[in-house]
Amino acid sequence: MGRQHLLNTPADGATDTPAALTPDLGKWFAEQGLLRTAIEGDEVGTIHEVTRGPLVALGSGDSDFALAPHPDLVGYPRPLAGMALDDYNVFIFRWYEAAVAAGDVRCARCGKLILSGDDLPDPDTWDAIFIEKELVAWMLVHFDCKRWLAKKLKGMTPFELTPRQPPTYDLSSLTLVETERQTPHDE
Ligand SMILES: [Zn+2]
Repeated sequence: MGRQHLLNTPADGATDTPAALTPDLGKWFAEQGLLRTAIEGDEVGTIHEVTRGPLVALGSGDSDFALAPHPDLVGYPRPLAGMALDDYNVFIFRWYEAAVAAGDVRCARCGKLILSGDDLPDPDTWDAIFIEKELVAWMLVHFDCKRWLAKKLKGMTPFELTPRQPPTYDLSSLTLVETERQTPHDE
């Protein structure tokens, strides 16, 4: 990880500038090695560097991706500064819990609504998944859909996607304990 590429300066000639990360979150993702960069040329021959940060999927379609949310902007009690990737994973899980409770998340593979509750029937049980390839993204998927997901995501890059801003859920009522990493048997 040498140079850091941030999205805080718009690229000249970019016609599909996606929703941009805030500079501090962009810098944090760069430090975690989660930014992806490509060189693109436009029709008049201008070449520019395009950087994409991690995404969250809210459904199974290419248009269902949003930028990964910023913990400090939703009242999350543990600040981004000082977080390790594991802490951010917990944040994303809490954020997804709120999104599921709001009825905003569909399975990344089958597109069916993800339901909340601890005692779901088997077909509705789901898991949160973190993909770290050329595409870096979190998504929710039914247990039964998991094995089909790799095929669906094969070859997918962030450069063909136009993510939106993530929906905002107020996470300020969480306690610090709820932001701590779980031991594996709790998951
Ligand atoms: Zn599914």
